[in-house]
This record gives sequence, structure tokens and C-alpha cells, in this order.
Amino acid sequence: MTKFSELNISESTQDALKRMGFEEATPIQEGTIRFGMEGRDVIGQAQTGTGKTAAFGIPIIEKIDVNNPAVQALVIAPTRELAIQVSEEIYKIGYGRRARVLSVYGGQEIGRQIRALRNNPQIIVGTPGRILDHINRKTLKLNNVNTLVLDEADEMLNMGFIEDINTILASVPDTRQTLLFSATMPPAIRKIAETFMKEPEIVKIKSKEMTVENIDQYFVKAQEREKFDVLSRLLNVHQPELAIVFGRTKRRVDEVAHALSIRGYLAEGIHGDLTQAKRMSVLRQFKDNKIDVLVATDVAARGLDISGVTHVYNFDIPQDPESYVHRIGRTGRAGKSGMAITFVTPREMGYLRTVEETTKKRMTPLQPPTEDEALIGQQRLALEQLAEIVEKNELTDYQPLAAELLEKFEAKDLVAAAIRSLTKEPDDTPVKITEERPLPSRNSGSRDRGGYKGSRGGGRSHGGGRGYGGGGGSRRGSRDGGGGRRDRSSSSRGKSDR
Ligand code: ADP
Ligand code: MG
Repeated sequence: MTKFSELNISESTQDALKRMGFEEATPIQEGTIRFGMEGRDVIGQAQTGTGKTAAFGIPIIEKIDVNNPAVQALVIAPTRELAIQVSEEIYKIGYGRRARVLSVYGGQEIGRQIRALRNNPQIIVGTPGRILDHINRKTLKLNNVNTLVLDEADEMLNMGFIEDINTILASVPDTRQTLLFSATMPPAIRKIAETFMKEPEIVKIKSKEMTVENIDQYFVKAQEREKFDVLSRLLNVHQPELAIVFGRTKRRVDEVAHALSIRGYLAEGIHGDLTQAKRMSVLRQFKDNKIDVLVATDVAARGLDISGVTHVYNFDIPQDPESYVHRIGRTGRAGKSGMAITFVTPREMGYLRTVEETTKKRMTPLQPPTEDEALIGQQRLALEQLAEIVEKNELTDYQPLAAELLEKFEAKDLVAAAIRSLTKEPDDTPVKITEERPLPSRNSGSRDRGGYKGSRGGGRSHGGGRGYGGGGGSRRGSRDGGGGRRDRSSSSRGKSDR
């Protein structure tokens, strides 16, 4: 660990960092601050939460000429929330130097921003659409910008901001220093780097090996409307002792938990909307084996200490690889093996690849079981139950009846009847699962725009013509913990809220 004092940072900035509670530089900061202060172009890749903001914020503050009223640094961030967060952090880092920082983003009244821009801010943090808007209105002049930062570059790419960014980059003097930060490095970002950066130093901090070795990882390609049937068949085939099903939204958790109960599974859901008491009671039941399947959102499951989970089903693929790793880390604990199965819709395949890049492990494709295979799974379970009863050898009371039956029927028929009576046959009681929109397409910048703009109503039929039930839900359920709102000002290309 490196102290900030070893990084040639000014006293006033060191004091500011101390006030912020930063004592030592994080690895990405250690790797990039030096180059940043030397004026080199830098590509910094590290996972979320590793301190990338200060990695570019410190060099910006160190380079700023406080006596020059012009805009000297421009930071482009994907969402309004991030723009605000980043500007606050840079403001704190620059506290000692009194650098003027302003954030501009869509959704905020433009007149107010124009007035604020007249007060000579030196550092601008903004979303692509709104920055472009100000450039076009000539309310933001970039001819004195010497540092340009692309923050969360992969996110901006996913959100379809590539053209806006290209335009902005072209409006900043070529003599500038460019810093690019991202959690992942898809080819489209490398291309930006090649086009717009000068011999960048690449600093890549390897993410911790978080994947537990003894988890078998599978994925099942399924359409949104097929997911529930696939899940119930998988449950029938796998016969998990304890399973967690992860869903993307609270609504999804409620619906899947309810649907599983209707189909005869011992299932309960937990998410952030439940009272603490209810969550505790569900968890206790799960730990006591009174529930076989726990359905949860990421947020609800975070930090839960549950042992003995044999199977994790990602009913919806998580958006970021870290959540994936946290989710599947619920199984395969204490030297036991576990199984993780991720459902992925065809248009979400890009997310699967991102996860695989992070875990450095390929997931094995799994064919969804057919109804027959699911039935066989149930029959095997019945068979095991029978065998277990025979092995216990406590059948003396029943043997006279057995002899009586054997006089009337064939032994084979009798055993078959016993298996049948113990087999849970496929249940197609109708259930209601509202369709979730897929995550925005992640295929190196080419976005399938129709995908999450159009409304995808419920009410599609499945499983022998039975509907998922109306719902008509074209809206996604609220995300646990809330998601960032996107900059909508740039265009109407379907940059919907997530
Ligand atoms: P990233 O952009 O990589 O996702 P952030 O820059 O948002 O990460 O930082 C994540 C958190 O860590 C923030 O709360 C930030 O204030 C804090 N942080 C950053 N650098 C340090 C440091 N050197 N010491 C302590 N905390 C830090
Ligand atoms: Mg960040």
C-alpha cells in the first residue's frame, strides 16, 4: 500500500484526502495518479468500488490553474447520479485549492446551468447529452480544456452514447491529456482509445479471484416467457436440498415465489420492501429447512450468511459481474460443491460474456430439460424415497398387507403404483409472471434499440396455451435499491430508465 505522500501530491490535496478519510492509495490510484500527473494519457481498468474517481480527480486538481477562469478539465460520466457523485468527490479533493467544479446533466433546468456556467467553473462533470447541448449552444467553451476524462466508459458505451462522445472528443483541443476509466474493456473502448488517445499507459488492476472453484457454472438460453417453466423443470430434475433463485426486481421475486408455491414448492421471497421481521422469519425458515427455495433480489441477499445452499438459479442474469460472483458464492461453501445456473435471454448474451471475462471461466451450456426429463427426475426421487424406506427396515407392520396384495397383483405393477403415488407429476397450474425487459444490449456498442423501447406486454401464452395471466406489464418493476436515471436530454433513442 502506498501513502499519498509518496505520490508527489501537494500538501493541500493531501490534507483534503485526509479529511475525506483516505489514508492510502488504492491499487488503481497508485497505478494511475503518477502517470496522470505527468500528463500522460491513461487507461485505467478496475472493478467497481476501487476508487477510480480519485484516480483521475487527484491529477485534475493537481493540474488546475486556480487563477485561470477557463474550463480546464472535462469529465464525462454516464448518468446524472454519477455526474453529481463525481463532481462532489472532485470538489472535496480540491477543497484546499478552492477549485470551482460544476456538474451539468439532463433533467436539470438548462437556464440555471447556463447561469452557473457563466461563473467560470474550472472543472465540468457532465453527462454526454447535456455537455453536447451546451457545446451547441456555445454556453460551454472547451478550447482551454487540458484534461478530459471518460468515466465508466463501458457504461456509456452500453447506453449508446458513443456518437455523442465522439462529437465531444472532437471539440476538445488535441493537445489535451485523455484519461479513460472503465470496469471492463470491450473492443469498442479499445477503438476509442486508439482513435482519441496518445500512447496511453494501460493500468489494469486484476479483480480478485472471487469465483469459488467448486461451483459448477451453467447457463440456459431461454426466452423471457419460457423462464418459469424451465425453472420448475430444472428444480424437478435437480432436486435441490436448498436453492436460491435470484430475480432482478421486487415484483419478479414476489411473482416467482408465489408461482413456485402454487406449483407445490416450498418457496418464499425476500426483498427490501418486506419488514425486517418478515425477512428474518423467512430466513429462519430457510435455515431450518422449512423452505426449499428462497427467491431473492441482490440487495436482500447481500451479506446473508446462509450455508448449505446446493443450487443457485439466476432467473435474471445480473447486470454486473460482481453481483454474479456474489450470487453464486452463496453455494459451494465450506468445501462442498455447488451448482449455479444462469438464465439468459438471447439478447443478453453479451452480459454472459462479460461475466465470463471476470470469472475467467466459461459457463457450460445446459439444455432446458423437457417435461419428460422433469418427470423422470421426480420419479427418481420417488424411487429413492422407496429405497430409503426399505433400507430402514421398519416394515413388519406392513408385510401382511403386502402379501395380501401380492396374491392379487403382479409385483412389478405394485411397485410401479407405489412409485407413481410418490411421484409429484408435472403441475401446470397457471401462474402469473410479468415479463421483465432484457438488459440493454451489450454487443460492443451496437445496440438493439427496439428491444427496450417497445412495450412488451404480458399475456403471452405458454405451457399448452395457458397464459402468464394479463398483467400487461410493460414497465419493469422498481429495482431494489433504485437505479440511476439516465441522461435523457441528448435524444429520444430509447435511453429509458433502468
Ligand atoms: P469506482 O469509481 O472505482 O467504482 P469510487 O471512486 O466511486 O469507485 O470509490 C468507491 C468508494 O471508495 C468511494 O466511497 C470513495 O470515496 C472511496 N475511496 C476511494 N479512494 C479511497 C482511498 N484511497 N481510501 C479510502 N476510500 C477511498
Ligand atoms: Mg466510478
